[in-house]
Amino acid sequence: MHGTRIPQRKRLRLLIGDITRVAADAIVNAANSRLAGGGGVDGAIHRAGGPGIMRELDEIRARQGGCPTGSAVATSAGNLPAQFVFHAVGPVYRGGRAREAELLASCYRTCLEMAEERGLKKISFPSISTGAYRYPVDEAAEVALRAVAAHLTRENTRVEEVLFVLFDKATYDSYARVLKQLEY
Ligand code: ADP
Repeated sequence: MHGTRIPQRKRLRLLIGDITRVAADAIVNAANSRLAGGGGVDGAIHRAGGPGIMRELDEIRARQGGCPTGSAVATSAGNLPAQFVFHAVGPVYRGGRAREAELLASCYRTCLEMAEERGLKKISFPSISTGAYRYPVDEAAEVALRAVAAHLTRENTRVEEVLFVLFDKATYDSYARVLKQLEY
């Protein structure tokens, strides 16, 4: 059969939970630019993944000195139920006029490109920057969901599923509200 090709709808799902417990091809971490390890989701990922992840980050740090805000680096995933961890560096929120939205969108886009390069199908994200980095959740949700929806509607994406694994109900509710408005 030839004729119209019906584009396959790619999935974007929201869950409440601990990102270290949800299987994916790549799990995204909310890291800092020194790749130094911290609290929040970063602490949980290193605890659950084991010390090998930090050893790989030590090598990356020795080679390139860290990771700029808005970008990400990849390591293996140790004991986590994934092949890779993508350590994305979100912006610290400073009122909204310091290119925060652009830098936050860039985190999501970079990680999705890294997934494409590796031919990965399923990637999970936490709510980058909305913890210690104080990005207002409603605003961050809009940036995050727009960036992911834009990627998933691309013709040539091989990513089939994007999960947001949100740690608390307030964050989940905020993402759910924004997703409904976007009508993805
Ligand atoms: P940032 O420094 O980028 O703000 P944080 O780790 O402080 O990163 O917070 C980002 C989000 O991750 C927050 O909503 C926080 O509640 C959430 N979080 C913390 N632990 C986990 C976890 N184990 N799984 C998923 N999300 C988590």
